[in-house]
Amino acid sequence: MAFCPKCNGTMEATAIECPHCGYDSSESYQREPEPAGFAYSRLAELALVVASVVTGCGCVLSAYFCFASLFFERHWMNGLVWYPIAFLYQFAMLVVFIRIQHK
Ligand SMILES: [Zn+2]
Repeated sequence: MAFCPKCNGTMEATAIECPHCGYDSSESYQREPEPAGFAYSRLAELALVVASVVTGCGCVLSAYFCFASLFFERHWMNGLVWYPIAFLYQFAMLVVFIRIQHK
């Protein structure tokens, strides 16, 4: 025994249509529930795109600064430690942002 979600009347568990109000329960089963919350809002989507672009630029800039520090400025600490760390960090964030968007 099941209950109709519309009129709350009893109906057969296997019945597709409610015998009291005619509610078609097959419709509600087929329909995907609307995604809700911040993770699916347009603002979050926009934030993800912006974050992806920013971290993408950060990646390229870090790589450039890394080479510039090594070959032009000869700042070994920057070229071998800090900019590679910045690059890896931003690259990881970029991967995370892109993966969230394509879920
Ligand atoms: Zn009903």
